[in-house]
Amino acid sequence: MYLPDIYTSSPLWLTIDVERVEDANFGITPKKELDIDYPAVLERWHQLTDSHHLRSTAFVLGSFAQKFPQAIKALHDKGHEIACHGYDHQLVYQKPFEVWREQTALAKRILEDTIQAPVQGYRSPSWSLPFEKRYYEALVEMGFAYSSSYFPFKTYMYGNAIDKKNPFVITTPSGKITEIPVPKCLIPFSGGFYMRILPLFVTKRLFASLINRGVKPIIYTHPYELLPNLFQRFLSQVKLDKAYVLTFANTGESIKRFDTILQTFTEGRV
Ligand SMILES: [Zn+2]
Repeated sequence: MYLPDIYTSSPLWLTIDVERVEDANFGITPKKELDIDYPAVLERWHQLTDSHHLRSTAFVLGSFAQKFPQAIKALHDKGHEIACHGYDHQLVYQKPFEVWREQTALAKRILEDTIQAPVQGYRSPSWSLPFEKRYYEALVEMGFAYSSSYFPFKTYMYGNAIDKKNPFVITTPSGKITEIPVPKCLIPFSGGFYMRILPLFVTKRLFASLINRGVKPIIYTHPYELLPNLFQRFLSQVKLDKAYVLTFANTGESIKRFDTILQTFTEGRV
């Protein structure tokens, strides 16, 4: 079974989905450019990971790499794995299959041209890849060795109710591919909105419970979650609705929480 080195070498898998707030499919309204300096935000990711001697897998949108190629090269040069998050952030199941396939292949090419190295991994925007063989077959044909697109909770937008804890192999007519699912625990907790909102002691207990059962947790975050006070900052510019709350609630807490979680569960690892 193919697994990325960064996954196997740490007690938890640290991942970041590199996209702009404006790219998110559930979208803030109105869609407009927000004043966020993304290369500077990614510097904060360098600081956080350096301080814990950890490396991450960065799932990057092709459109983001076109806008900020130097920032993606810098991640690659520092030893972070660059993987593919699609070209834009539209939900996969809302696109015609062939459009998704072409855009994903394009995004992979853009990323490989940017870092001058092969890209092995794929994560669909908002975990929206249908759990169907033809999608995995297409990923194999595009040259992906693994996907991390499976979210084991059914939500209003994404996810699947089938319980998956550990990576598994999917065999397609074109070859095999590994799927690395978000491990199922009592509730979603290890990234995004959930990790910002849950009390930290609950999050720590859930991480510990997975690790004690021999399951590797996956942390996932986004660049904008590394900035403080975005909730207040954009209130006057963007409509306050469900998407706004999901996107910005408690942003700025993430860095402190990562610090605690990484210190607790990766202590002594380099
Ligand atoms: Zn995303």
